[in-house]
Amino acid sequence: MKPLGPIPSGFAVIDGELAIGGCKASDLVAEAGSPLFVYDGALVTARVAALRAALPERLGLHYAMKANPFAPLLRHVAGLVDGFDIASGGELAMAEAAGVLAARISFAGPGKRDEDLEAAISRGVTLNLESAREAERALAIGERLGCAPRLAIRVNPDFDLKGSGMKMGGGAKPFGVDAAAVPALARRIIASGAEWRGLHIYAGSQTLDAAAIAEMQAATIALAARLAEESGAALPACNLGGGFGIPYFPGDLPLDLAAVGAALGEQFAALPDVLHGTAFCIELGRYLVGEAGVYLTRIVDRKESHGEVFLVTDGGLHHQLAASGNFGTVVRRNYPSAIATKFGLAPEEEASIVGCLCTPLDRLADKGGFPRAEEGDLVAVFCAGAYGASASPVHFLGHGPAAERLVNPRA
Ligand SMILES: *Cc1c(COP(=O)(O)O)cnc(C)c1O
Repeated sequence: MKPLGPIPSGFAVIDGELAIGGCKASDLVAEAGSPLFVYDGALVTARVAALRAALPERLGLHYAMKANPFAPLLRHVAGLVDGFDIASGGELAMAEAAGVLAARISFAGPGKRDEDLEAAISRGVTLNLESAREAERALAIGERLGCAPRLAIRVNPDFDLKGSGMKMGGGAKPFGVDAAAVPALARRIIASGAEWRGLHIYAGSQTLDAAAIAEMQAATIALAARLAEESGAALPACNLGGGFGIPYFPGDLPLDLAAVGAALGEQFAALPDVLHGTAFCIELGRYLVGEAGVYLTRIVDRKESHGEVFLVTDGGLHHQLAASGNFGTVVRRNYPSAIATKFGLAPEEEASIVGCLCTPLDRLADKGGFPRAEEGDLVAVFCAGAYGASASPVHFLGHGPAAERLVNPRA
């Protein structure tokens, strides 16, 4: 038997079934269909409250909306955080539709087209510039539109986040401007009359190690101070990136948020002069929404092959690619999963939960221990609130998208 990842807290058993935000899995599926992503707004609200309690008051909290752009969830999160970080023109439209003010949006990401820059500049969105050429195009568009663009520089730092699942900094990267080239570009932007918005330094994602995050934040603040000095201008704002991970796999432990907050508090207490007036923020995706989502899928077939049990579902990697181990992981390990209609029962047998796609990659749980499940039972895959529906190849094999529901939306 292979171990399963740890089931996040915040879920209950009602009538022997998994309940999400107080709603039984079978009731949710009866209403919305299967497969179904369910997000519990109350868990997102609680997560934001925990962050606010642990982190210095001075630190703004942004949502990196590529983690989950489901419209009702965006509206929910918009009421909780200080800003949204977007990475495309499409995300700009979705953020605005969710009621996020353009002044609270910043736009990073390589390959911004002129039409994306124009939409952002005309609305007053802050651009996190990814290159010197992008800066020139943004300045030209601002001139043509007759408005001063709000410009920050995304820095490609000389370090990365230790223990990070996805390295975004250090060495040659398509993201950001190499640190050494930042001061000259900052001076160019300030001299042009654009609104200087400071720096965005993102060094990596998905770490569970508080000390690694503290070390990265200290290095980020030191780099920001050095670049501000070398640019000869104070920094109005500095986005410290993110990197806060969630436990997905057997043995993973939650991030020690209090330790991260305490270390950042010490950093803020000892800021160099050039950063005294700087507005700091972090940008989080999965940490805000990942554990609040569950993917529910119905068992269509139960079969045995060479003595192994396969529970074949109507879902799969076309909705939840990450759980199949094919989204940026090197070794396949099991996400937390359970038989939702027999939640909390002791494991009785070893079974693999597979999807309905005709590829051996489509495995949601490999040789896990589960209570005996039959056709009609529901499977729950946890940690499905981030990089699920929107980061999976939904058109592959033509089964169509999963439904999505938000329970406990903010009033
Ligand atoms: C994806 C991304 C994030 C969010 O990453 P998570 O691991 O979901 O927290 C934050 N900032 C930038 C620049 C990103 O590209």
